[in-house]
Amino acid sequence: MTATCPPPAAGPAVFRAGCPHCRTSFELGADALRLAIGGSARTTFYSFTCPGCGEAVRKPAGERIVELLTVGGVRTMRLEG
Ligand SMILES: [Zn+2]
Repeated sequence: MTATCPPPAAGPAVFRAGCPHCRTSFELGADALRLAIGGSARTTFYSFTCPGCGEAVRKPAGERIVELLTVGGVRTMRLEG
């Protein structure tokens, strides 16, 4: 995942993501994404619903992605344990 640069006027952040089910890529606003931060890399992931095929997609989120999503205003859920 990469984040496109927001316009200078500071519009909402947009994230480019791909769907492993229908293999399309698209841009998603912060509202369309969810970030879950667990106690380890295995339990830290982001998820969204593919606008193309409707599948729920979950992908691991590394430190850099977590930072991008958090700064971009994505709703974050911290998992216990
Ligand atoms: Zn899809």
